[in-house]
Amino acid sequence: MGARRLVVLTTGGTIAMREDAPGSGAVPRLHVADLLPDLPSGLPEVTGEAFCNLPSAHLTLELLWGLRQRVAAILARDEVVGIVIPHGTDTLEETAYLLDLTIASDKPIVLTGAMRTASDVGYEGLANMRAALLAAADPQAAGLGALVVLNDTVHAARYVTKMHTQSLDTFQSPGWGPLGRVEGARVIIACRTAREVIPTARLETRVALLQLAVGMEVDPLREALARGVRGIVIEGLGGGRVPPWWVDDIRAAIGAGVPIVIASRCPSGAVGDRYGYAGACRELAAAGALLSDGLNGAKARLKLMVTLGATNDPAQVRALWA
Ligand code: ASP
Repeated sequence: MGARRLVVLTTGGTIAMREDAPGSGAVPRLHVADLLPDLPSGLPEVTGEAFCNLPSAHLTLELLWGLRQRVAAILARDEVVGIVIPHGTDTLEETAYLLDLTIASDKPIVLTGAMRTASDVGYEGLANMRAALLAAADPQAAGLGALVVLNDTVHAARYVTKMHTQSLDTFQSPGWGPLGRVEGARVIIACRTAREVIPTARLETRVALLQLAVGMEVDPLREALARGVRGIVIEGLGGGRVPPWWVDDIRAAIGAGVPIVIASRCPSGAVGDRYGYAGACRELAAAGALLSDGLNGAKARLKLMVTLGATNDPAQVRALWA
């Protein structure tokens, strides 16, 4: 085994952006070497590799799966003790959750990013990279799955979400709080969380995500089914409720073999309720809908893609959502 090594695998995002000329608009321009901060002595060697250099809204599901495969291959190397992935913040939580859900390795996977570009006063990219590398090198991070480290705060991929369009403190884990902090050169993990891993060789990409709002017609559900999607996540109201005129279509979709997952448009909390009225979560569960255990709609969509990638057997799909 060679020297212990941390790998930085770059993907782009604001952390890698700057303006070519004042006012031209920031675009991805920074490369791996630009994203390696000074580190305290005693850390493993750091090596860099570029995966892509894109705004995170430009990532396709194919690229995302390619990234997952690359991360798994890097972590399988004996000398690698952890990986840091600078990433656009807009979809960072989804990449983090996909890696968390599908890579069984106990080695730390740490995602980070920046809210300010390298052309902005107060660019925090290198500070975030430093904190992420410290976290990835810390034995306490082993076994926690994918972590998100920004603003000196350590979050679990399953719970973290982007809460603010501009704030440096945008990543939060509503309802749960962070796992820990990075203070100076010290990593403090105050809580540990169990993780779920679903082995799969592929993603089923034909999964739709629909968000409900008051009085919404059922057309988006019908359109998704007509497009031939293999699964649908509905971000329902409150504890996972839908207007009563959605129920028959949901029931028909489930009957036709298209799994329906009920999540919530609330930023935290599992779905489920005690109501007996039409469209309540209880009725949807009785109709065979799967319930999101606190995953937001975007993450529930990925879990359904992973689940349907892993198996076509309805009983196994159900067991993975139990
Ligand atoms: N637009 C950026 C992205 O690639 C935002 C960011 O990284 O903060 O997601």
